[in-house]
Amino acid sequence: MIRVGIDIGGTKVNIGLLEESGKVLAKENFPVGDATDMQVFIPKLHDAIKRLAEQAGVKEAEIGFCGIGVPGTVSADKLTVGCAPNLGWIDLPLGKAFREYTGYTVKLVQDAKAAAWAEYCAGAGKGKDLICVTLGTGIGTGLVLDGKIYEGALGTAGEMGHIPVKVNGRPCACGKVGCLECYAAGKGLGYTAKELYGEDADARTLFAKAAEGDKAASEALDEAILLLGTTFVGAVNLLSPACLLISGGMSERKTEFAEPIMNFVKEHAYEIPGRPLEVKLAALGSDAPMIGAALLPTD
Ligand SMILES: [Zn+2]
Repeated sequence: MIRVGIDIGGTKVNIGLLEESGKVLAKENFPVGDATDMQVFIPKLHDAIKRLAEQAGVKEAEIGFCGIGVPGTVSADKLTVGCAPNLGWIDLPLGKAFREYTGYTVKLVQDAKAAAWAEYCAGAGKGKDLICVTLGTGIGTGLVLDGKIYEGALGTAGEMGHIPVKVNGRPCACGKVGCLECYAAGKGLGYTAKELYGEDADARTLFAKAAEGDKAASEALDEAILLLGTTFVGAVNLLSPACLLISGGMSERKTEFAEPIMNFVKEHAYEIPGRPLEVKLAALGSDAPMIGAALLPTD
C-alpha cells in the first residue's frame, strides 16, 4: 500500500507519497494560498497527489491511505477540523470532503501530533515513548505514550504552549493570560522584542541584540529558556517518557536557544540512576508532520 501525507501549514502545503516502511517516494510543497474555498482547495491537493504518483511511477489505485496534518484541533472521528485559526477554519469537515472527493481512507491529525508520530515511527525516537516539542512561532507538542498518540480525554493533551507561566500575564489568543507561548518561542520573544526595541523588532532582533552583548536581550532570552526548561521538566516528570525531542524553526538556533533548554532539562528532570532521559533534537525537520500524517495507523 502507498500512503499519502499532507501537512497543511499556516503558509505552505507539504505533500508526500510514502511506502509502508516510511520511505518517501516523492514530495512537493506549494504556498497554501486561499484555503477557504474547498471546491478549489481539495482538487488542488488531489492534483498534487496525482502529479507525485506519476513521478514515483505509482498507480493511484495503489494509494490506500491519506493522512492530513492541520495546524489546529481535530474532531474525535478525525474527519473534521475543529479550529485552525491561521487558516480561518472552524468546524470544517475537510477529512470527510477529501474522502468523498478522492475515495481514499482519510484521517486528520494535529500537526504537532503528526510530527511526534513521525519521530516515533521513523525519526529520533524510534519505538520509544516520547514528547516532541515543535518550537516555531508557537509551541506545538505531541505525545506518543504506550505506542500511541496520546490525545487525552478532552483532546487537549500537549497544549503545553498554553500552560500559564505568569500571573496576570500577557493575553493569549486562546482566551487566557500568561501562557508560555506568550513569553517563549517565536511569538513570545517577538512580544518581548517589541516591548524592548519598538514595533519593528521581532525574535530575530532579540537574538541579534543578545549577540552584540545587550543585557536586556540576554536576560529576556535567559528567561524564555528558563520558562521552557521548567515547563518541559514538569512534563517529563509527569509522564516519564524515554525521550524529549525538540524541533521547529527556533531549534535551529542551537547554541543560543535549543542547547541551553536541553541542558536545563537534563540537569533538572527527575532521574533514576542508570535510566537516563534522552534529550535531543528531532531528526525529520520540516517533513515530520507530513511523514507522521502518512504513517498514522489506518484502523
Ligand atoms: Zn494560551
